[in-house]
Amino acid sequence: MVIIKTINGLKKLIRAWKKKGVKIGFVPTMGALHEGHISLIKKARRESDRVVVSVFVNPTQFGPKEDLKKYPRPFRHDIRLCRLNKVDLVFSPAVNQMYSGFGPVPKTYIDMEKLPDKLCGRSRPGHFRGVMTVVAKLFNLVEPDTAYFGLKDYQQSLIISKMVSDLNINTVIKTLPTFREKDGLAMSSRNKYLTASLRAKAACLYQALGMAKKLIASGEYSSSKIIKEMARFMKKINKARIDYIAIVDRDTLEDLPKVKKGKTLIALAVFLDKTRLIDNTLV
Ligand code: AMP
Repeated sequence: MVIIKTINGLKKLIRAWKKKGVKIGFVPTMGALHEGHISLIKKARRESDRVVVSVFVNPTQFGPKEDLKKYPRPFRHDIRLCRLNKVDLVFSPAVNQMYSGFGPVPKTYIDMEKLPDKLCGRSRPGHFRGVMTVVAKLFNLVEPDTAYFGLKDYQQSLIISKMVSDLNINTVIKTLPTFREKDGLAMSSRNKYLTASLRAKAACLYQALGMAKKLIASGEYSSSKIIKEMARFMKKINKARIDYIAIVDRDTLEDLPKVKKGKTLIALAVFLDKTRLIDNTLV
């Protein structure tokens, strides 16, 4: 496995691989790797000749009051996991490599209408613009045949799929299921922020989604009634503050007044004290 920190070094190796005609699988991450990331890496390993993982905490997707500074960066742990899972190349550039000459803020952005303003975009303005910009840059550098994303960040993978199609980028996007802890909590690098007592409550997002599914199975299709029940459950959890609970069309992310089977996404974001957790399910 090689670790590359510079764009020139990366370009050189990718050029050599491309000459040989190898198939590149790519997993973009912000590091602090866990089983969720590993499930993407394993899938990439099965399907590609070469596996590239990027580890880059991208400043342009964080809001001014968000956790950029304290975001975990256990680099040695990440490298060990990549090695164990037979990654060929870890690309971990410094901020000034990715955004050279521009300081932390690039002058060219990739943006999109509508989808980035829904759900998480409402409380994180500019977040998806930062995500799209860095992913487009990484795709230009790595030239992956296939890139792997997690369903946990459903809105992100939907936006990336749309971006790739709109900009005619030659990468297939695959979105893989959410990897969970035993109690149902979706694995996330941000779970590390939770104290033991908050961690004990953190499966509440998964439980609220389970509740919604049960209501639907019992014939309740009214989105407002389902959301009300989920909110009532969440309000009983000490230190939990709802950012949003939404029932939307899975392609447009527009609110759905009634659940439509095969077309619906139920998504929520909840603060547990200061830690913002997200989860979702397709119905
Ligand atoms: P991050 O490092 O949080 O930016 O995540 C990098 C990639 O891993 C994204 O495509 C995420 O959706 C995916 N990912 C994060 N958590 C999970 C999980 N619990 N299960 C599956 N994929 C995940």
